Amino acid sequence: MKIDSLETLLQEELKDIYDAEKRLVKAIPKMAKAATSGELRAALEEHLEVTKGQVQRLEEVFDLLGTPAKAKPCAGMKGLIEESDEVMAHDATESIMDCAIIGAAQRVEHYEMAAYGTVRTLAERLGNNQVADLLEETLNEEKEADLKLTEVAEQLYEEMGEMTASGGEATEMPAKKTGIRTRTSRA
Ligand code: FE
Ligand code: FE
Ligand code: ZN
Repeated sequence: MKIDSLETLLQEELKDIYDAEKRLVKAIPKMAKAATSGELRAALEEHLEVTKGQVQRLEEVFDLLGTPAKAKPCAGMKGLIEESDEVMAHDATESIMDCAIIGAAQRVEHYEMAAYGTVRTLAERLGNNQVADLLEETLNEEKEADLKLTEVAEQLYEEMGEMTASGGEATEMPAKKTGIRTRTSRA
């Protein structure tokens, strides 16, 4: 098709994100199920509910634009979910698998952040503030999800540090690394 205006571009991008969000509604439960950390599972389950709301918000956006809510296969999200499935099929200890799931989930959030930043700005440029505000609301939710995942990852690394190093008082990475090395050389 010919994309001959910013309006058309916005519509095309929205169809892509609509598909991406719908794929995520199916994919996030699998990631939550594969997670061991209660914190991680809770974060993913919470984001699943948020994602369902984002699907509805997109339907509201289509409505405001007067175009039918139609999805167009999002190759990007399809690929990110494939990579996530790939990583979850690996054999890994529980904590390491949790770190891998976080890596996959953060790839997803960053893809969405880029996509929503674009459509938010397009709507803004087109003077449709109502749509721009709705899209920014979702953008902020994706940013929040990303930050939450970083928080969970940091906690996981800390716990893993306690398992490998003794008396994990040090919070700086170099100090922790030295601690591990000393312990290993003594053993
Ligand atoms: Fe989303
Ligand atoms: Fe896409
Ligand atoms: Zn998301």
